Amino acid sequence: MAPPDECTEDDCERPGAVVLHIPWADNRVVCSAHARVLARQDGVVADPLDEAAENWR
Ligand SMILES: [Zn+2]
Repeated sequence: MAPPDECTEDDCERPGAVVLHIPWADNRVVCSAHARVLARQDGVVADPLDEAAENWR
C-alpha cells in the first residue's frame, strides 16, 4: 500500500490532498485531480486534508 500521504491511485505519485470516504470500501487518500473524478460516484464524500483545502476549493 502507498503511504497515506500519497495518492493511492495506480501510477499516480502526486501528494495526497483529499480523503475519500467510500461506503463500499476503505477510506483512501488521493490527489486533488483524482478526487474530482472519484467524488462524482454516488455516496463518495471528498474530505480535503487541511493543507490542501485551498487547492481543492
Ligand atoms: Zn492521483
